[in-house]
Amino acid sequence: MKIFVKVILGYAVISTALSAQSSCDFQIAVGDNLQFSQDKVVARKACGTVTINLKHEGKLPKNMMGHNWVLTHAKDVSAVATDGMSAGLNNQYVKAGDSRVIAFSEIIGGGEETSVSFNIEALSTSEDYIFFCSFPGHFYAMRGILDVT
Ligand code: ZN
Repeated sequence: MKIFVKVILGYAVISTALSAQSSCDFQIAVGDNLQFSQDKVVARKACGTVTINLKHEGKLPKNMMGHNWVLTHAKDVSAVATDGMSAGLNNQYVKAGDSRVIAFSEIIGGGEETSVSFNIEALSTSEDYIFFCSFPGHFYAMRGILDVT
């Protein structure tokens, strides 16, 4: 009986580890520079909902070195970033009601964390999606690819 319990527990640990690997939750770190900790996120449509957890490991406040995570079609990045600049910090540097924006998080500064969840079922496996930071001037360097599989 004791052995049986151990086997069950062992199985639970393994299956938890496996589901974490092919996760629908992603951890992305940023800091006091213009870089995401990863420049590619591969997410499965089967997830239904994908969550991006963004952590700012730097020290600078958000009005100086703020970062967010904005998802658009590749073709919309420049226009969305430009419109976001004039939207200002209070609007997370995203134009209010911008239909080109698929998902976006709030702007965070050093020591802060945030997350954004979005429905991936509506996205296409054959289109190019880019995530970037819409803080003024950051989108040139702070960007990555969302690969939908
Ligand atoms: Zn940024």
